[in-house]
Amino acid sequence: MDKHWSEMNKEMQALIAKKATFRDGVGKLLELRKSLFEQITQIVSTYPEEAFSRMPFAGAEGYHSKTLAYSIWHIFRIEDIVVHEMIAEDQQVLSSQDFQAAIRSPIITTGNELAGEAIVDFSKQLDVRALYRYAREVMQSTDRILTRLEYSDLKRKFREDMAEKLRNTHCVSEAESAAWLIAYWCGKDVRGLIRMPFSRHWIMHIEAMQRIKNRLCKLARKGVDPIAYCGFSCDHCFLGEWCGSCRTDYNTCSFATISPDGKCPNAVCCQEKGIDGCYECNLLATCEKGFYAPSNDGANAARAQAMYIRKHGKKAFLKMHDRLHEKYDFSKTQEILGQDCQEGLRVLEES
Ligand code: SF4
Ligand code: SF4
Repeated sequence: MDKHWSEMNKEMQALIAKKATFRDGVGKLLELRKSLFEQITQIVSTYPEEAFSRMPFAGAEGYHSKTLAYSIWHIFRIEDIVVHEMIAEDQQVLSSQDFQAAIRSPIITTGNELAGEAIVDFSKQLDVRALYRYAREVMQSTDRILTRLEYSDLKRKFREDMAEKLRNTHCVSEAESAAWLIAYWCGKDVRGLIRMPFSRHWIMHIEAMQRIKNRLCKLARKGVDPIAYCGFSCDHCFLGEWCGSCRTDYNTCSFATISPDGKCPNAVCCQEKGIDGCYECNLLATCEKGFYAPSNDGANAARAQAMYIRKHGKKAFLKMHDRLHEKYDFSKTQEILGQDCQEGLRVLEES
């Protein structure tokens, strides 16, 4: 489990367990959920539509054997059912705002009954933007309900009539692979539900989503030119797991993620000019677009690398990068190339 989330989760559990620190514990829980939800936001806002129905670990054991779209649906359907039917005893977000039609989901259940190709077929039908809006609404409504909880609520238990009520919603499939959920939830008190599904369940599925998208990036980069338009090496990039290269639809470099159209300005500019990369551009020395923006502390490192490619070619550049990583211990090239591109070029040429 991710160390940061695992620590936050442990801290939150310890804080909510005592009356004196319960409020701080709820605060920590909301903080954890915010941090986890940011991952979903990043994934939804940067990955292409087709990524959400792909299953790169089909047949594997574990949460990563699903799709990205299924994972989001499953996390938030479970949360919506549990928080609204069991804790608040009001209306689920799915039905109160007619999200099912917007998402175009053929089911209202948690999806536990689906497996293999059925998950892929289901995922292909979903409108991912609407699904994201639903997920955000569920998270916000749960956060409001969690904020209103008192310490004394934690020991609240659920009786058989709650199980009956849940069955009557038809939100949990009667299939063997899903039906157990009702007894599982009803066997917990509110404190147990905070763990599953409001915190640990998120961590497990969002970590699985990270594995899925890392794998999809790796697959996207297969056979693609490993030199980025701006002059970085994708093969040596510290974002290599997260980003599938600016030469594919899986580009999630920092400037792509902050651009309104999700595209890196250097990649767009090169494509418009019909050139292979910024290293072929006569404006390289003075350009301030994207990675070369003066506010970017990696601007001169990128420029120095593009200058190296222009002088020595891509093949020599990749070999030099291997040597650079043997010689120095760094993750971002600006750590060793500094803020002066001529000086950076000198470091590269001496490696
Ligand atoms: S951030 Fe840039 S260099 Fe790194 S993998 Fe993505 S496109 Fe390649
Ligand atoms: S103008 Fe800047 S971003 Fe565009 S190709 Fe030239 S160096 Fe690259």
